[in-house]
Amino acid sequence: KFIVFEGVEGCGKTTQLQRSRQWLLKSGWLPTLQSKRFLKQLIATREPGGTDLGVGVRQLLLDPAKELIHDRAELLLYAADRAQHVESFLRPHLAEGAMILCDRYTDSTIAYQGYGRGLDFALIDQLNQMATNGLESDLTLWLDLDVERGLARTQKRGASDRIEQATLEFHQRVQQGFAHLAEKNPDRIVRIDADRSELEVAEQIEATLSQHLTR
Ligand code: C5P
Ligand code: MG
Repeated sequence: KFIVFEGVEGCGKTTQLQRSRQWLLKSGWLPTLQSKRFLKQLIATREPGGTDLGVGVRQLLLDPAKELIHDRAELLLYAADRAQHVESFLRPHLAEGAMILCDRYTDSTIAYQGYGRGLDFALIDQLNQMATNGLESDLTLWLDLDVERGLARTQKRGASDRIEQATLEFHQRVQQGFAHLAEKNPDRIVRIDADRSELEVAEQIEATLSQHLTR
């Protein structure tokens, strides 16, 4: 199973992904619970930055001090990160039967580079196709949080990255992108109301995961 967490800045993806991992470890959803193999069967990863190459790409992309990165160059860097992640990490682990929880995937590229930057959607689809070689998520959890609330959370965290410094309008377009994607892919994308307490959000996610894993 390949499960993806998506959403705008500060929506709680990373926190909730870790909570889900802990919950899955305890819940007995995976058959070989408590065996050593089991730990390898439930994997948390992220984009950009899920491989050695990706860690370098992530640094290039997020460093606020760097020269202006052109939109098309940015798109290609995310695609390169994904191609490496898919081939060297995601596919091998999935082939071994692992369950993978991934922080961001193809929908982020459509939302940020398509809706946010205004790059051509057909081109982005082609690039996503090339980067993933057809690997789609089984389930995508969209943590839906108001943009301004999310950005306020990231500001509380301190130093912000290059993208978090983008305009409010940019982040609002990204948010609209996620909303459209959820509308267009109701079977794959499940909306989670992220404007609740951490515990309540976790409960919604656990209910969704339970439902998905039993069907
Ligand atoms: O996962 P995380 O929120 O840390 O993502 C790192 C940054 O990369 C975020 O600021 C996000 O806005 C940005 N990003 C992007 N385009 C993508 C994926 C991530 O601008 N396709
Ligand atoms: Mg961030």
